[in-house]
Amino acid sequence: MTAPTASGKPCIICVAITGSLPTKGNNPAVPITVPEQIESTHAAFEAGASIVHAHVRNDDQTPSSDPEKFAALQEGIRRHCPGMIIQFSTGGRSGAGQSRGGMLHLKPDMASLSVGSNNFPNRVYENPPDLVDWLAAEMRRFEIKPEIEAFDLSHILKAKDMADKGALVGTPYVQFVMGVKNAMPADRDVFDYYVRAVGRLFGLDAPWCAAGIGANQALINTWAAEAGGHLRTGLEDNVRLDKHTLAPSNAALVTRAAEIAAGYGRPIATAAQARALLGLSETATPGVASANLDA
Ligand SMILES: [Zn+2]
Repeated sequence: MTAPTASGKPCIICVAITGSLPTKGNNPAVPITVPEQIESTHAAFEAGASIVHAHVRNDDQTPSSDPEKFAALQEGIRRHCPGMIIQFSTGGRSGAGQSRGGMLHLKPDMASLSVGSNNFPNRVYENPPDLVDWLAAEMRRFEIKPEIEAFDLSHILKAKDMADKGALVGTPYVQFVMGVKNAMPADRDVFDYYVRAVGRLFGLDAPWCAAGIGANQALINTWAAEAGGHLRTGLEDNVRLDKHTLAPSNAALVTRAAEIAAGYGRPIATAAQARALLGLSETATPGVASANLDA
């Protein structure tokens, strides 16, 4: 089967700026404080990123789920990166249970949603059904489009089931996550099957994206650019440009992703184009944040 060429199709680049694991000991460019995160996001935005996927941290670099930090981050990004799509993580390392969604009242454009459990390098990534349902309900309540984090094929099928039941805002935007130790590796046959599954379940025009962890980042960027998907990069997933070189910034990883996309004839989507592709409003909805921020 020959896939239709993706050339000419705008390519959304998502930058995952911080995550919950990498520290300045791994790479001094990892932004930890909110002002550092805003500065790093701004540079990534100027390099072509139209979505920022964000976690927040405590000052000692440990993961946080503090809504006030999310509020300050959102306010700064909206001020410095007009139109950029803001996606908060509800991933499991930043807190337990419902604290993972404690910032959704801030009404980011999007939030990540894991709909099933799997293994991570050193632990189980627990996403029990009642918590998944609660997070999805909160996203409906605040009109937040989820990004479905597919660590496994079953997660894509689960998203279909939830969408059919009206549990998700909009058509699911699925992200294939590959290369997490003890979860799905970067396997080309599986990747191709994921692409077909999304087309079959959500429509051939349904946008999707893919993320590769560590050394798989550029490889998965390449596969996704070629197959017509959208790209995720950033220091959350990978702190190196190559085996011997630390990435100097999130912007440098965005630039690399943009170059990969260009190699397949894919222009980089502007924030406005990304909003249209994902069915988001043209401008960010005003949040209820009232945090003071001077960044
Ligand atoms: Zn994340």
